[in-house]
Amino acid sequence: MLQGARHEHIESLHGAAAELGIAIEIVELRRGDQVDAHLDGLILPGGESTAMRKASEGAALLPALFSWMDSNEHRPVLGTCAGAILLASPGTNRAPFIGASIARNAWGRQRQSFEATIEVHITTPPGDGVGEHRNDADRFNRRPLPVAPNAAALEDEGFPGVFIRAPRFDTESLDCQTIASLGEEAVGVLDGNRMALTFHPELTLDRRFHRWLLTEAERCKGER
Ligand code: GLN
Repeated sequence: MLQGARHEHIESLHGAAAELGIAIEIVELRRGDQVDAHLDGLILPGGESTAMRKASEGAALLPALFSWMDSNEHRPVLGTCAGAILLASPGTNRAPFIGASIARNAWGRQRQSFEATIEVHITTPPGDGVGEHRNDADRFNRRPLPVAPNAAALEDEGFPGVFIRAPRFDTESLDCQTIASLGEEAVGVLDGNRMALTFHPELTLDRRFHRWLLTEAERCKGER
């Protein structure tokens, strides 16, 4: 919760839970001491990875999240954009969490940000589309961004990919499953139960990746 599109992820999780008809509890993590062993899954949002690393320093959030990932290898993690950067390059003395290297800002500057339809190669749990997008203010008076009508669910036709000063995977070095592509290029990968996307699914109404996270979290919980 330190930086980036975290409120939009919260909104998408509520929407995905409504679509799946399940009850969830969202834990907002701002400090390392809030990272609890009982968490069933984790989202590392997009934003600005350097800002996230700096913001984490005071309350040691990132080291706590990384240790949680070390001890809970099977619980699902969804890293989007800057979150994907953190999974691929967690920092000095830390092995990557995914078998992929990533280059920051590799499509160009902020103004080269774009939207494009992406192909998704895994079957994600279906939703009935009932999850409405709300944008209620939280206790910090922060509202999630409204989603653009053209970012509505395409489901069968592809995924509405929103790329904001996005990173790119080094295709040659990929040592994990490609689960989303833009043309020939991998823009989403899965390594074990860690998913890294270079785009922003939380800025659309297509919640299939959030449904994946929740379904995997439930499955892993069932196995414990
Ligand atoms: N450019 C950002 C970074 O390097 C990532 C952009 C994003 O998360 N939308 O961290």
